[in-house]
Formats: sequence, C-alpha cells, structure tokens
Amino acid sequence: MNLEDMKREIEKLVIAKGFYNSPEDVPKKLLFAFIELGEAADAWKKGMGEEKIAEELIDVIFYVLDASRLACPSVNMDEMFIRKLEKNMARPYQYGEGHRLKQQK
Ligand SMILES: [Mg+2]
Repeated sequence: MNLEDMKREIEKLVIAKGFYNSPEDVPKKLLFAFIELGEAADAWKKGMGEEKIAEELIDVIFYVLDASRLACPSVNMDEMFIRKLEKNMARPYQYGEGHRLKQQK
C-alpha cells in the first residue's frame, strides 16, 4: 500500500465514521497529528512497548495524510515523497543542525 492508497482508505474511514471532512478542518487535523505525536512520546517515555508506540505513530500518519487529502488534493503524495527525499539527500551533511557542528569543534 502506498501513500495515495492510504489516503483513499483514510477517506473511507473518515466518511464511514462521520469525522471532519472539509478543507476548513485541516488545522484541526494537524492539531490532532500533534496530539498523536504527544501520545507516541508519552508511550515511549513510559516504556509501553514497540506495538503501542507504533500504533500512535500510525495515528500521526493517518492525520497527516488526511490533512494532505484536504489541503493539497491535487498533489500525489508518493511523488512528493520521492521529490522531497531527493531534495533532502542533495543537502549538506547535518543540514539544519548547524549547532551540532559548533558543538563538535
Ligand atoms: Mg492515538
């Protein structure tokens, strides 16, 4: 299953369960993704085990992909994943973490 397949499955779930489903709901979905990140961090902090941590991380992915479905519906997320991976791979070593280079000196 790829990201576009997942988006379609998540849309079915959203419709079946009567969840928020309009572009105006994107901020809520992004907030819910943060909440799920917090749940993942809490599960890790409490040593709840890999299954629980993985489940919470999947919740994050659900909300992120659901937000993408409504916020940028014309973007193919599988293609975007590849383009963004290539972009990041082309960046320098430890890009965006310049403070670490200072610490190593
Ligand atoms: Mg959760």
